[in-house]
Amino acid sequence: MALRNIVKIGEPGESALNSSTREVKRFDDRLKILAEDMIETMHAEGGIGLAGPQVGILKRIFVMNVIPEEGDIIVINPEIVEKDGESVAYEGCLSLPQMYGQVKRSTNLKLKYQDLNGEFHEMEAEGLKARCIQHEYDHLDGIMFTEKLIGQLVHESQLSQEEDNNNDDNNQTEKKDDLIAEEE
Ligand SMILES: [Zn+2]
Repeated sequence: MALRNIVKIGEPGESALNSSTREVKRFDDRLKILAEDMIETMHAEGGIGLAGPQVGILKRIFVMNVIPEEGDIIVINPEIVEKDGESVAYEGCLSLPQMYGQVKRSTNLKLKYQDLNGEFHEMEAEGLKARCIQHEYDHLDGIMFTEKLIGQLVHESQLSQEEDNNNDDNNQTEKKDDLIAEEE
């Protein structure tokens, strides 16, 4: 296993973040190594999700670890087949460190995907996990969360202050519960 370099906005290679990706067709050892490296890199950076383009690999794969008891999940060739509800919450991204912004996402979803052996699975997700899946899924289509912002991007140092200011508003307080502290 090895750590991969994360592609960041404003750094060389950033075009990978706005590129389309190819379906994974070969479920071989190379793919397993890529997935292991992505998981290791995600944990090393303190993220809860990481998509192929973020390590310069333009393939439809992402990894996530949102619910610790569920462990690491490798998602290949995903397809969101159902979506329901709407919620707004702050998101961050390992490709744009320390910056956060509010994004509207579906609250619940159903995802079809393949594992490292090419086997098909179906997963239902809600809340933060559903949000993470939509964020990573967007990466596979070359879309950064900054393209879907509601309001402004804020630096993490401003975030706690902004939330304090919003504490009168019940809705805002709810959003705080859904805050994504690190990437996806
Ligand atoms: Zn991201």
